[in-house]
Amino acid sequence: MVHVATAISEHRPAHFRRTTAAIACAVGIHSTIPLVSVARAQDGRHVKIRTTHVAGHVYMLEGRGGNIGVSVGDDGVLMVDDEFSPLAPKIRAAIAHIEKGPLRFVLNTHFHGDHVGGNPVFGTEATIIAQDNVRERLSTLQKIWGKTKEPMDKAGWPVITFAKSLSVHFNGEEIRMIHLSHGHTDGDAIVYFTGSHVLHMGDLLFSARFPYIDLEHGGTLEGYQHNLDTVLAMDFPDDLKVIGGHGPLTTLEGVRALRDMIRDTVAIVRPAVEAGQSLASIQKKGLPARFDPWNWDFITTDRWIETIYKTYSEQSAN
Ligand SMILES: [Zn+2]
Repeated sequence: MVHVATAISEHRPAHFRRTTAAIACAVGIHSTIPLVSVARAQDGRHVKIRTTHVAGHVYMLEGRGGNIGVSVGDDGVLMVDDEFSPLAPKIRAAIAHIEKGPLRFVLNTHFHGDHVGGNPVFGTEATIIAQDNVRERLSTLQKIWGKTKEPMDKAGWPVITFAKSLSVHFNGEEIRMIHLSHGHTDGDAIVYFTGSHVLHMGDLLFSARFPYIDLEHGGTLEGYQHNLDTVLAMDFPDDLKVIGGHGPLTTLEGVRALRDMIRDTVAIVRPAVEAGQSLASIQKKGLPARFDPWNWDFITTDRWIETIYKTYSEQSAN
């Protein structure tokens, strides 16, 4: 396994990388991010795709946006998520560097633009598979941060959808997609490569950083916690490697660390919310310094506190 933090510094300062990842994760639309930054985030010119062999048939590609999982072998190529469409030629070149076979399937972990942006390109040559709600959201108007987002080009819509789970038998192993509801969005699926012992969790895992929970599109804080517990209770082999939607390659230790961080920060913020303190005053107090490493450009400590605040102020109001 390549140590990703070290690998990143070969290209550019870690802080720059985090900034661009943050913009990418903003699904292309965010009222607080200048449009020029968004444009730069989606413009692939300065992006390098970094390839890491994870285990067995599976590789991880990091460019800009969500981490990509790739299976290569005798049956060809299968991708999990595909970042932004301007990056498609670079993603294609990175995969060709590993394996020359045809791209057969693209699995989407959820509908956010930094994970499915390449769909209209790759959908012309491969079959796209996703949970039912992903197709629903990509094929209809969506409101994202107060702005209307047009449906995706039809070539990018998932062709095969499922409610709870689906298996693709490919490159000598069962690749299992399992829907875990109402965590990051309402359409998330984790992808388990049963022979390679690799799990891609999409944005149900932000590795070593505060998670984004899309409360406008079916995500919930308690669902997110429940899904992490569900994953930790599953029967995985000891040598499992875990790819998160964002952040460095990890293992179940990374999942456990995220679960514990959420539990501990909720235990700090929730009583303050229920005691009627304002969001501003809770943010001013902040979190203990040991949570600082989780802070990043997209989900800062303030924004993470806001996610907890929204969850429990709404529950108190009901
Ligand atoms: Zn996402």
